[in-house]
Amino acid sequence: MERIAVFPGSFDPITNGHESVIKRAALLFDKIIVAIGMNSQKNSFFDMATRMKMIEATFEDYDNISVSNYSGLTVDYCKTIGANYLLRGLRTSADFEFERSFGQINKQMDSSIETIFMLTQPEHTALNSSIIRDILKHGGDAEQFVPEKAWKIILKNI
Ligand code: ADP
Repeated sequence: MERIAVFPGSFDPITNGHESVIKRAALLFDKIIVAIGMNSQKNSFFDMATRMKMIEATFEDYDNISVSNYSGLTVDYCKTIGANYLLRGLRTSADFEFERSFGQINKQMDSSIETIFMLTQPEHTALNSSIIRDILKHGGDAEQFVPEKAWKIILKNI
């Protein structure tokens, strides 16, 4: 059976932290699907098409990494596409506490899906999409925090 992992998130925008986790996980799974959750309660900074383009460009040279989007429960989405792994990144103990309850509840809802955690690289611990959005809103330069190919797309969309 193919080992398919879903890496869910908002990716608004993708950061070097996301990129690092995805590339490292791509060595462990047959396929990684970076899945952008559609959240009607959350106004995104970049629209869905732009967020998808950034991820597509970042991983264009990786055959086993693709991008998609979904609405509804993440475990339901995993089931629909035949994924048995849910991948999440861990930066801090706060991430751990948050992820623990999600992982345990998801497991209770669907015991066939395993949540796998990957520790962030130390240099990416402080990085998150909301900091990037703040920098961009104030006209700052966030190039060093974002994958090169995604940055080119950001420049065309701000
Ligand atoms: P969410 O909207 O669910 O917080 P994000 O797009 O922020 O989604 O993150 C998606 C996934 O990427 C989560 O598992 C998160 O822990 C992980 N992640 C976010 N930032 C980093 C980082 N700097 N290093 C490693 N993993 C990260």
